[in-house]
Amino acid sequence: MDYEIIIGFETHVELKTKTKLFCGCAVEDGAPPNTHICPVCTGQPGALPVLNKRAVEHTIRAGVAMNCTINRRSRFARKNYFYPDLPKGYQISQYERPFCENGYLEIQNDEGRPYAVGIKRIHLEEDAGKLVHSASSFEASDYSLVDYNRSSVPLLEIVTDHERNPLRSVNEARTYLEKLRQTLIYIGISDCSIEKGQFRCDVNISIRPEGALDYGNRAEIKNMASFKFIMEALEYEVKRQLKILHSGKEPSQETRLFHEGKKITVSMRSKEDAPDYRYFPDPDLVEFEIDQEFVEQIQEGMPELPDQKVNRIIKDYRISRKDALILTKDRDVSEFFERCAAFCDDRVRLSSWMIKDLFKLLNEAAVTIENCPVPPKEFSTLITLISKGDITDQIARTVLGIMFETGEDPESIITRRGLKPIQDEERLERVLNEVMSENPEAVKKIKEGMTNPIDFLIGQVMKKTEGKANPKKVKDLIHKKLSPPKQS
Ligand SMILES: [Zn+2]
Repeated sequence: MDYEIIIGFETHVELKTKTKLFCGCAVEDGAPPNTHICPVCTGQPGALPVLNKRAVEHTIRAGVAMNCTINRRSRFARKNYFYPDLPKGYQISQYERPFCENGYLEIQNDEGRPYAVGIKRIHLEEDAGKLVHSASSFEASDYSLVDYNRSSVPLLEIVTDHERNPLRSVNEARTYLEKLRQTLIYIGISDCSIEKGQFRCDVNISIRPEGALDYGNRAEIKNMASFKFIMEALEYEVKRQLKILHSGKEPSQETRLFHEGKKITVSMRSKEDAPDYRYFPDPDLVEFEIDQEFVEQIQEGMPELPDQKVNRIIKDYRISRKDALILTKDRDVSEFFERCAAFCDDRVRLSSWMIKDLFKLLNEAAVTIENCPVPPKEFSTLITLISKGDITDQIARTVLGIMFETGEDPESIITRRGLKPIQDEERLERVLNEVMSENPEAVKKIKEGMTNPIDFLIGQVMKKTEGKANPKKVKDLIHKKLSPPKQS
């Protein structure tokens, strides 16, 4: 029997706002504990929430980017549970009528075709505080402290739709997460830093016989931040659930925990123990209406989305789709490319040098493109020098290495270090004559019409000139001197 995998995500994303969702406390990562708190975000009796307009704007922007219906009438609900990092005893979230519903995010599916992954809803809620344990784990700790700086920081929750174009493999799950993160960064509503916990997922997975109408029982794995661990957990779950199904049994509906060291998931709680949050509309935040004008303003001011950018870059700069996809993966990289392209006509060479050579230097030095020591204008100058045949690829690589280390401009590096190519034909001919007399065998073969030894001779000339000969000129000279007599 064939089986069908269905994977769903509830992704929590910390929004980029100056202040918290319901009070004026600053959102500041890494601030000393409990320095950004007030009666509202520490849940003091009688304190009243006031909604942050910017957070609503960000939420609607996400909804527009993911093709959602924007609910003009929306409201907040209380999700009731107790935890020490939640001083009110409830979280303000959305239940009925979230801001955005029924959208999609287009990815490339496993068959290489566009696939509109269903987005069921996007809603806005507040984050909880943070427990800081005295040891590395809760179990090993003598005590735990609570930091309320994160309490009430705005969070977006993006929920996929398991009925409408769900994710059907671990690979599609990865593609979806990457595209989602890329899109949110592009529209400027979150930095989505995985290290800082600004992008966290609850993942669920179920498997059913192909064509079955009922969904199988799902296993949910909560609060995952690392893409690597998410993929490992999903791969393990696919194997575990298939094994149960093959033995004629059914996996149970439960919440499971991923063990990072052992790379397995273990049962945490069953369906019966699932909490009942008793959602009800928050009486402190009445139902409200969003003006059409407000939504239109957001629609009009939408920045370019990743797919739009790929298509425009291909059209404007005539580079390959493959290169365009690599250059637009990161918004800062694409901006760097476009700044370079403004100074450089040879865009194909530019993209190839960025992807192969500049990325290599950045990776080796663990530097991001924002902090790239080579400014776009000077990188373009280097590419133009190669295009014009003023320097060889080999010299250009040396020059780029020095530019990266010292921040110097390419022309002064070339002059100062004597890297100017040899343009003088007489000098080139002298070197070539030397090489030819050292390699009579190769010369003989070229005269007989073989072409391979030509590259060999060029290589020898390059060696003698420390890469400063212009290979095209050397090739022309060889042809001039050695071309086999035309047969009539
Ligand atoms: Zn506050």
